[in-house]
Amino acid sequence: MNNHVTVLEIDKSALRYNLSFFKHKLLPTTKILVVVKAFGYGSDAVKIAGSIEKEVDYFAVAYTDEGINLRESGITKPILILHPQIQNLKKVQEYQLEPNLYNFKIFDAFVALCKQQNLTKYPIHLKFNTGLNRIGFWHTDIPVLLSKIKETASLKITSIFSHLAASEDLQEKEFTKNQINDFKSIAKQLKENLTDSPFLHLLNTSGIINYPEAQFDMVRLGIGLYGFANDTETTRQLKNVLTLKSVISQIHLIEPDESVGYNRAYIATKPMRTATIPIGHADGFPRTFGNGVGGIYINKEYAPVVGNVCMDMIMVDVTHIECNEGDEIVVFDSQEKLEELAQKTNTISYELLTNLSPRIKRLLKC
Ligand SMILES: *Cc1c(COP(=O)(O)O)cnc(C)c1O
Repeated sequence: MNNHVTVLEIDKSALRYNLSFFKHKLLPTTKILVVVKAFGYGSDAVKIAGSIEKEVDYFAVAYTDEGINLRESGITKPILILHPQIQNLKKVQEYQLEPNLYNFKIFDAFVALCKQQNLTKYPIHLKFNTGLNRIGFWHTDIPVLLSKIKETASLKITSIFSHLAASEDLQEKEFTKNQINDFKSIAKQLKENLTDSPFLHLLNTSGIINYPEAQFDMVRLGIGLYGFANDTETTRQLKNVLTLKSVISQIHLIEPDESVGYNRAYIATKPMRTATIPIGHADGFPRTFGNGVGGIYINKEYAPVVGNVCMDMIMVDVTHIECNEGDEIVVFDSQEKLEELAQKTNTISYELLTNLSPRIKRLLKC
């Protein structure tokens, strides 16, 4: 039971709005996979998946235990494990998860395990590297891969996919178009030689926005669901899903020459008021927000961090804000506020969100 007063609210109707926003950008026949890796981008994978399960075709997570967690919470839709590890393949089968097989080592291990367990036609997905150079078979692997597939009855080649390296960056349009073309030719070679008819998918959030012509049979929606599109214009059309809130624990009156916080990093030059808030770097409020870099909002007024960010708390300057102990504060309640915070510490919305620690209470608002 999490009784923390620092709360991440998840707005279910905004989530559903964003899902339908992306659906409307696609052909009605295009399937939707929702990526809920990293605890649903730092929110709550089970709450997210549960809220939209009926509206989507597939879920994906990065690692096997994330898929197990969804299954144990009652999610029954197919779950693609993007980066399964060989030692977890037995669990993958036990929980009817669908692995991405991305090189011969994991392919062979999975086929061997299927044989040992007497499993046939087990749904798997093949990932190809078309330029990200992260994980995936190379196009030159196709002949050997095809011969291995023909030799086994263990697998059902359910889909073929790849991942774009710079879908949000229109300066890399030429590179991306090459990735799309390479993927097409890889898929063609495979489909011509397979008895299964695998479906194809390539696009993430920014891919859906910038390259809808490459939607193939399914898309993989991640950050967009939470209202972030890596593009100001589209982000504005999405609804904010996540709100991080807390309350003021204590207010202090600080005299000139007194210091605030660890290492006496802040020394007051004039009389001031500070508010102590129960969120710190252990909660995912980065220490780099200290000393005025980051801040929070009280009644829509901005209060910058005073001194260093502690593990469990921050002190903020409220000299100019009328407020009391127990009042609500907001860390972010819009995409703009989160993007601004991310920029201040040289990162992206993805990292700030996924760093929100499990200590913060998650609340689904219907
Ligand atoms: C994380 C991930 C996605 C989702 O990306 P977004 O930019 O969040 O939409 C899609 N596909 C793969 C392979 C991923 O790893």
